[in-house]
Amino acid sequence: MKKLLIIEDEIAVRNGLKELLTAEGYSVDTYGTGKAGVDMVKSVVYDVILLDVMLPDMTGFDVCRTVRSLGVSSRILMLTARGEEIDKVLGLELGADDYMTKPFGKKELIARIRALLRRKENIAQALEEVAFDGMRFDFTKQLANRGTKQITMTSKEFKLLRYFVQHEGEVISRAQLLDDIWGYKNTPTTRTVDNYILSLRKKIEKDRTKPKHLITVHTAGYKFVR
Ligand code: CA
Repeated sequence: MKKLLIIEDEIAVRNGLKELLTAEGYSVDTYGTGKAGVDMVKSVVYDVILLDVMLPDMTGFDVCRTVRSLGVSSRILMLTARGEEIDKVLGLELGADDYMTKPFGKKELIARIRALLRRKENIAQALEEVAFDGMRFDFTKQLANRGTKQITMTSKEFKLLRYFVQHEGEVISRAQLLDDIWGYKNTPTTRTVDNYILSLRKKIEKDRTKPKHLITVHTAGYKFVR
């Protein structure tokens, strides 16, 4: 069952939304303050958060920013009153996914929530497939191509690339790669990892001497960027 969180201080609106969305088959939690909502998000994974902008203790903008700074990936639908700063709502740094201006129709709200849930699933599934720099990798079928040209890769190379994509932007140590990809800890040398990185670079880098995707982080390991 999909889990929704409603953060809204007006009791009538809050209860009305809860009733409507529960009837739609969602599991719904409700809170009347930003702080209570943020506390919940720390311990419960919600699929969609409906977030009122004007809350008694903090603004919905602050709640949104705080929730995102916790690394929460729930879809966030802001509920705004007419005249509130819509451009701020949709600002990238805020991290909201959509907004609705009150008063809104029940059908439209349900449609928006469904759309956000679909988007969330698409993001989760995206790990089965990735495309960057003119290349496409299908991790399920283990197929890769650059334009119309096929890239031949081993299962281990697919596994390694997928791991990097899932940890995009993070510095990954050789030891971590050995643990997570090869699954053994006490290897005589971490050269295995370096060799695989070199061979993967040959396949995904245009110029393997100047890697743009699989980057060496001096004394720390490697980092992947799209
Ligand atoms: Ca309010």
